[in-house]
Amino acid sequence: MKRRRLKELRKDTRRRMRHVEESIANMPNECSLCSKEFNNEEADAWTIKMSLDGATLICPDCREDINESED
Ligand SMILES: [Zn+2]
Repeated sequence: MKRRRLKELRKDTRRRMRHVEESIANMPNECSLCSKEFNNEEADAWTIKMSLDGATLICPDCREDINESED
């Protein structure tokens, strides 16, 4: 019994991993707001929002704009 559940868990994990890989493959490579090209060196400053439509990438400049408008 135990062994069987573990097997199902592994199968489920593998399915989830494939979904993650697909999400990464569909990742935008530019800012969704200003189309600025994604720069790996400042990757930490970029914001990635996951939604049902896919990933939305926000550059540091646009992120600041969003934060300001929220105040
Ligand atoms: Zn931007």
